[in-house]
Amino acid sequence: MAVATEVREVKQFIGGEWVDAADGATFEDKDPFTGETVAVVPASGGADAARAIEAAAAAFPAWAETPPAARQAVFLKAADILERRQDEVVSLLARETGCTFGFGMFQMHFVPGLFRQAAATPYQPIGTVIPSDAGAFAMGIRRPVGVVAAIAPWNAALILSARSLAAPLALGNTVVLKPSEWSPWVGGLLWGEIFAEAGLPEGVLNVITHAPGQAGPIGDTFTTHPAVRRINFTGSTATGRRLAEAAGRNLKRVVLELGGYNPLIVLSDADLEYAVNATAFGAFLHQGQICMSARKVLVERPVADEFTKRLAEKTRTLKAGDPKEPDTIIGPLINEDALATVKSRVDEAVQKGAKVLAGGEDAGNNTYRATLVADVPDDAELATHETFGPVLAVEVVDSADHAVERANATAYGLSAGIITQDADRGLALAQRIESGIVHVNDQPVGDEPQMPFGGVKDSGWGRFGGQAAMDEFTELRWV
Ligand code: ADP
Repeated sequence: MAVATEVREVKQFIGGEWVDAADGATFEDKDPFTGETVAVVPASGGADAARAIEAAAAAFPAWAETPPAARQAVFLKAADILERRQDEVVSLLARETGCTFGFGMFQMHFVPGLFRQAAATPYQPIGTVIPSDAGAFAMGIRRPVGVVAAIAPWNAALILSARSLAAPLALGNTVVLKPSEWSPWVGGLLWGEIFAEAGLPEGVLNVITHAPGQAGPIGDTFTTHPAVRRINFTGSTATGRRLAEAAGRNLKRVVLELGGYNPLIVLSDADLEYAVNATAFGAFLHQGQICMSARKVLVERPVADEFTKRLAEKTRTLKAGDPKEPDTIIGPLINEDALATVKSRVDEAVQKGAKVLAGGEDAGNNTYRATLVADVPDDAELATHETFGPVLAVEVVDSADHAVERANATAYGLSAGIITQDADRGLALAQRIESGIVHVNDQPVGDEPQMPFGGVKDSGWGRFGGQAAMDEFTELRWV
């Protein structure tokens, strides 16, 4: 992989123009592994958000009336442009977000598919004819809503930012995207470049960036500005809750995809080699910084010793280091705070009696080794909070019923996995897991653009993906 190293000065994208922040402020976007500056980026605030919303509102009437073929053409071109820029994008994912080559390629594979599916959206049926007792010719018709504000995280920066804008735009809305301060370019400004080249009209997509810790004024503008009709948010439960409260006051509908504490059940009939490999993948892909990452593996007693021994061995083999080296499995965490949180959660669990079976060490450059822990007490933060890092807890259960009870003993409900060779049993157990997503004979990390994606309980509400997005990002009118 060729790794570009130049520092770029990037501007934000409002009304089809590349502009500075209103007050000219900037911040340095850093490589989490080397600490080097990747880009100098505008540090915006509420005034910039308002400007972007107004540009989006001005562009809405024409975009909403744009024929389906023209909307489709933009998405097909955007997919091609992204594929043409693949090497650069994978390199940028590594530099800006510490993303390894494998996860970079996963994201690069997903997003063109997402855009090509979005290209079909403008041709989907938008209504029904409904029998009326009054003898009227009555219709239910879906209309775009107007301006959609999109707030995206840094972790799967390419996928989650692309998902935040694809369905809303394809359905005829206009969008203001606010990427995370930790991925302003590959999770935000990149889309300005690609969609401008693809021929998206000015103002239909706007991207505004801000310095670390400065999202508040932009979020406040999204929740209060009258032109914003929907907000979609992917991020932590704490931030999502605050945003939903503010949006609720202003009667704005929100799609929230929040954190998870995703259980993976391994039943005693599992193919153990498959189970070990799937578990390591589900727990440690992208150093465990995926909302769907397995946080706890619940293994049935008859296979627990053998499974745990093999999983610990596998965990020790995962190379931690520079994400730009193609054989690195565990790259850096996104920043020093993230590393400090992971370390303190493991230390606290150990003080309370947990045992580290593999890893448990800082590997330098913000990197933490893949870690397997056992005997984590229920009151440890590692057991109650989502810990966004390469740490997996293993727990022995007495039966499938016990596994379900332990799987549901969390405030979250995003994804889950059940590994068994008995598909019928797996499907029956899947019905009893409290989560928005469950995989049978697989681990919890997986996504396809057309699937209804989202959680229950503290993992949020609403769904991205496929038909579900049609409900979220249109208004149903009775005519
Ligand atoms: P994480 O800890 O994973 O970064 P956050 O929930 O803090 O999760 O971040 C997810 C997204 O939410 C990012 O784009 C971040 O900038 C944004 N964000 C953080 N605080 C606010 C806020 N007060 N209003 C709106 N967005 C916010």
